[in-house]
Amino acid sequence: MRPIYSVVVPVYNEETILPELYSRLTAVMEQLGEPYELIFVNDGSQDRSLEVMQTLHDQDPRVKVISFARNFGHQVAITAGLDYAKGDAIVIIDADLQDPPEVIPELVARWKAGYEVVYAVRTEREGETWFKEVTAKLFYRLIRSITNVDIPVDTGDFRLMDRQVVETLRAMRERHRFMRGMSSWVGFRQTGVPYRRHRRYAGETKYPFRKMLKFALDGITSFSYLPLQLATYLGFAIAALSALFIAFVIVARLSGMQAFVGQATTLVAVLFLGGIQLISLGILGEYLGRVYEEIKGRPLYIVAQTWGLEQAPLPPHAHVVDVSHLRRPDVAGAKSRTSSEVSQEQRPSR
Ligand code: UDP
Ligand code: MG
Repeated sequence: MRPIYSVVVPVYNEETILPELYSRLTAVMEQLGEPYELIFVNDGSQDRSLEVMQTLHDQDPRVKVISFARNFGHQVAITAGLDYAKGDAIVIIDADLQDPPEVIPELVARWKAGYEVVYAVRTEREGETWFKEVTAKLFYRLIRSITNVDIPVDTGDFRLMDRQVVETLRAMRERHRFMRGMSSWVGFRQTGVPYRRHRRYAGETKYPFRKMLKFALDGITSFSYLPLQLATYLGFAIAALSALFIAFVIVARLSGMQAFVGQATTLVAVLFLGGIQLISLGILGEYLGRVYEEIKGRPLYIVAQTWGLEQAPLPPHAHVVDVSHLRRPDVAGAKSRTSSEVSQEQRPSR
């Protein structure tokens, strides 16, 4: 039977969590009373995660497994799950139980009311370091202020998406993926459901600082050119200031003042500008490197083996995305989004 719901779970070294995750997800999904599938994506785990998943699949055919040839990263694991998912509504959830499965029925209720994207908004985070909490808060506000995409603050990838949205996302094959931004970019009717983010059930975060930084840069570079324009703005500002300064120095010299005669002035000016130039080059490099990776056009991921899944259908042609045939009959209750509504709904924490 074709599933109504697909739950996509990216998994990287989570052997201690999987049994608990499975039983909590199963309890919640069975309560919904419609057919569903759980898709575990093994992102090159080095522990026994894959064996645990296989055992779960043997016991319960609703559990399906995709196993990558190596670690491709969280966002790519989610992408693979979306590629293979068959459901009408697809839920993305982390494996570590920070996103409680018990919120899924609330997401489903909003979907049934007609929304195509229902994202979960973190009102509180438990057991997170102050550093992560502060940087995350700053990051979501920064990215919101420098992009034209309405990316709601304090939302992760924990969300439900309609088949229309998933099919659209499947056409977006960019390599440096910021899924939460991409799923805002597509439009449709979107709404948020607040929830409390729990602490990790077991194990440690798979996002060390280095990965977090790369992820943040992926988000910014995918949705904004502002960093590239920074060099232009700085250039104009510094040129204007220098012009004023030249005039000042000429006047000072003519009036016989002993100003700016030492080497220090020269050194400071050269080093300051050198620093700014290097930073601008680095920013260019961040974009250029990403352009290079895109242009190589390598596959996004390599699936070594699957359990319980057919080969994923090819993604729709990237330049023609017409998902109108997948539209559900219009449901009363869902409003098309207007920007004032969106900003109210999407910023409950403000
Ligand atoms: N994950 C993954 N591949 C990776 C890193 C993480 O599939 O390279 C999974 C991980 O197993 C978890 C989810 O992505 O299900 C989120 O990771 P984590 O909980 O470590 O991130 P945090 O919540 O600390 O930001
Ligand atoms: Mg986590």
